[in-house]
Amino acid sequence: MDLHLDIFSPVQPIRSKIFDDKGLTVSIKRDDLIHPVISGNKWRKLKYVLQRAANDRKTHLVTFGGAYSNHLMATAAAAAKFGFKATGLVRGEPVDNQMLFICRLHGMQLLFVDRESYRDKPALFAENFGNDEQAFFIDEGGASAEGIKGVAELVDELPESYDHIFCACGTGTTAAGIIKGVSSKGLQTVFNGIPVLKNGDFLRADIDGMLSRPSPYHLHTDYHFGGYAKTTPGLIAFIKDFVSNTGVLIDPVYTGKMLYALHDLAAKDHFAPGSKILAIHTGGMWGLLDMQNKFK
Ligand SMILES: *Cc1c(COP(=O)(O)O)cnc(C)c1O
Repeated sequence: MDLHLDIFSPVQPIRSKIFDDKGLTVSIKRDDLIHPVISGNKWRKLKYVLQRAANDRKTHLVTFGGAYSNHLMATAAAAAKFGFKATGLVRGEPVDNQMLFICRLHGMQLLFVDRESYRDKPALFAENFGNDEQAFFIDEGGASAEGIKGVAELVDELPESYDHIFCACGTGTTAAGIIKGVSSKGLQTVFNGIPVLKNGDFLRADIDGMLSRPSPYHLHTDYHFGGYAKTTPGLIAFIKDFVSNTGVLIDPVYTGKMLYALHDLAAKDHFAPGSKILAIHTGGMWGLLDMQNKFK
C-alpha cells in the first residue's frame, strides 16, 4: 500500500513588536498546512501507525476520542484517503457537533461509550471488535512508538538550527517525538513544551517514559488557562490580535496557548537577546468551529 503524502510544511517568519524589541528571531513551522483535515502532528503521529496496519493487512481502523477530538477527525480523513474503513469510539453521551459531522462525512462510524467503560480501551476494542479480523486498534490521540517515530521526522526537515523549539502538549507524544529528533541529531536546541491541561507536571513522567534515553527539556506549566479547552478573555484577545496581524490561524485549545506563552516569556526576558526560536503549528483549526461563542 502506498501511504505517500507530500509534506508541505514551510518555516515562515513571525514578526511582532515584542520579538523585535527583545532582539528575537521567531519562525513558525506550518504543520497545519500538511492537510486540511489530517493536520499537523496528527498526520505525523498516524503515518507509521497506518503503515503498520497496512503491513498487518488490516482494513478497519478503530480509534478513540472525545467529541471534539482532532485525532478522531484526522483518522476519519486518513482512513478515507488511504482506503481503510474506520470506527470512532466517542467518550460520553451521544451528541452531535461540527467536528463529528466531518468525521461522519468521511465515512467514520461513531459509537458513543459511557465515561466509565471508555477508560479501558483495550477491553472496549476486544468487546466490540474481538471477532473482526480486519480491525486495528489505534490508541487515543495516536499515542504509540510509531507516532513518536513519525513526529521525530519533523526535526530532519528543519532548514537551520534553533536555540528553542516551542510546541503545545496534550499527551506529550508530539513532545517526545521532537525531543527524540533533536537529541538523535545531537542538536543543542532546547525543547519547550506548553501543557494545555492543568497540573501539566504529570507530563514529565509520561514524556520521559516515551524517550529511550534521558534528554533535557522544559515544560511551562502555567499556560493552561484553567484547563483543557478552557479560555480567558486575555487568551481570546491574544488570538484575535495574532490572527489578524499575521494571517496565521490558531485555536484556543492548543496553538493559541503555546503562542501566548512564547509572547509572554519573551516579554518577561526569558530568552537571551539574539535567540532563534521556532514555534510548531500543530494544526487543529477545526476546533475553532465549535468555539465561536467564546469570541463574542
Ligand atoms: C493533538 C494536538 C496536540 C497535542 O499532541 P500530543 O501529541 O497529544 O501532545 C497539539 N496541537 C494540536 C493542534 C493537536 O491537535
